[in-house]
Amino acid sequence: MNTTVRVLEGIPAAPGMALGRAFILRTPLETVPRYSIAPSALPGELERFRRAIQTSREQMESLLTGVELDDELRAIFEAQLMVLEDPLLIDQTRERISDRQINAEQALAVEINSISEFLLKSKEAIFRERVADLEDIGNRLLSNLMDVPGGDIRAEQIRKLPPDAILVADDISPSLMLHIRFVGGIAVESGGVTGHMAILSRSRGIPCVVGVRDLLNTVSDGMDILLDAENGRLCLQPGEAERRQYAGYLKTRRREATRTITSPVNTACGQSIALWTNLSDVDETTDDRIQGASGVGLFRTEFLYLKNRKLFNDYTGQKNIYGQIFQNLHGQTVTFRLLDVGGDKRLPASANVHQRQLRGIRFLLANRWLLESQLRAIYEAALDAEIGDGICRLMVPMVSTVEEMEAVRHSFDTVRSQVHQERAMASIEQAPVIPLGMMVETPAAVLMCDAFAQRVDFYSIGTNDLAELVLGLARDTSLPPEELYYQPALFRMLSRLVCATSLPVTVCGEIGARLDLLPVLMGLGIRQFSMPPASLYKCAMAIPDLEIAACEALCAKVLQANSVGELRALLDENK
Ligand code: PEP
Ligand code: MG
Repeated sequence: MNTTVRVLEGIPAAPGMALGRAFILRTPLETVPRYSIAPSALPGELERFRRAIQTSREQMESLLTGVELDDELRAIFEAQLMVLEDPLLIDQTRERISDRQINAEQALAVEINSISEFLLKSKEAIFRERVADLEDIGNRLLSNLMDVPGGDIRAEQIRKLPPDAILVADDISPSLMLHIRFVGGIAVESGGVTGHMAILSRSRGIPCVVGVRDLLNTVSDGMDILLDAENGRLCLQPGEAERRQYAGYLKTRRREATRTITSPVNTACGQSIALWTNLSDVDETTDDRIQGASGVGLFRTEFLYLKNRKLFNDYTGQKNIYGQIFQNLHGQTVTFRLLDVGGDKRLPASANVHQRQLRGIRFLLANRWLLESQLRAIYEAALDAEIGDGICRLMVPMVSTVEEMEAVRHSFDTVRSQVHQERAMASIEQAPVIPLGMMVETPAAVLMCDAFAQRVDFYSIGTNDLAELVLGLARDTSLPPEELYYQPALFRMLSRLVCATSLPVTVCGEIGARLDLLPVLMGLGIRQFSMPPASLYKCAMAIPDLEIAACEALCAKVLQANSVGELRALLDENK
């Protein structure tokens, strides 16, 4: 008999379904082990704490001396080093270990929480901002106490989860998401569909629901859950009917999992449409589903660095990774987007960078050594791989002024001539052609596209950012996709770009994989789409049923729509 199943509603962010037990992902400070210490073992516990401080200090000092640091970054590290001397934290933790006879992790977590709470209440921003430093160094101390290399202790817990676990959290940062690969599904209370956590879930094929109200108040660890990310729902303690629904889903999925595509795909009227793919990690380059794609239209290189933080300062490591990517792709074209950090892709404090509040190209120009080392690593890897013309493409993120594009081109030219000199390459003709394109994802880039046209080789439209910036929203806002992507203003923006340029235009934002919007984008004149591997097959199946003339007629009406309601009604009629 099926009793009433409690359902929580959220926003579908990565398609699929999963049945499994909930695992609540708590903050690092909440997850520390808790146990008591016998009085005779207290000196040993205090010694363990002292050693963790010592190791943390040595790690910080080597960060401070190992590389050239700008003043701002030096100040951050020095502040963190001072936290290690801070009697408020260190002495009180020691006292708590002895008085309460508890382990060091537990005592430290309590002290960090209480100091953070105190700082957060302050009216002065400077004190509130210290919380991030405190948590950063706290995380380092805890990692050293628990012998977890490299930072977030939750990554270790995630690795040990059963493959059907449903991860439940308030939010998951993109850098933590990089450690999440083999879980059944994800449900988060905050977050939005354009956030990079959602994007990574989609590209990894992990069903995900975001913006689930009351999630943490309702779900408990180990609870049975059916996560229905097709419809943005969580069924708690599912009954027979829900389990049957899941079995049906699994059957269809097994059938589709092995299906590959051959791009370009022809429409019913014979127009060819190129399907490219979006990747963010080296191991995705061996995914069978991308083999028939036209190439990698967007490689989000920032995730390589967020996953392996040492890369920021490891030139050889960077070059090896790009070399590995060329090798795995066997001559398929790859478009490397230069580091797009900032926004929800927060950098670790240990990265030797400054101006963390900047995003994309602005950040790279403020850290020109990083821009140049990335350009050089890609270029040298391309030369070593002996790739042909146009196989490697570069793309600049979050561009809004022509000066930014000129600065990147200048840096690239400088890097190339340095490399040619070092390698004694006689002429530029010996080098492969590497087109330089830009992401169009700010309203400024759309409005200035005529000025950019002389300075770039191709455009790729980033609708994830553009949709939010057109509406004045922050990235990752918890809005249902209808309110984000079905805005007439977005299509009018896109139309402005497509009408004003003769350069190749790809859409690499997630909107391209929405089957109801695909005909509108084709009606605008877009003939190339780049999307997660998991979306390629369904788009390749849909395109042969479309006629360009019908797409253009639909698009003309969409451009006349004055509201989300009108636009959706047009799409409904077109179904
Ligand atoms: C976009 O903004 O649409 C895009 C493809 O880039 P990202 O999602 O990485 O910001
Ligand atoms: Mg973007």
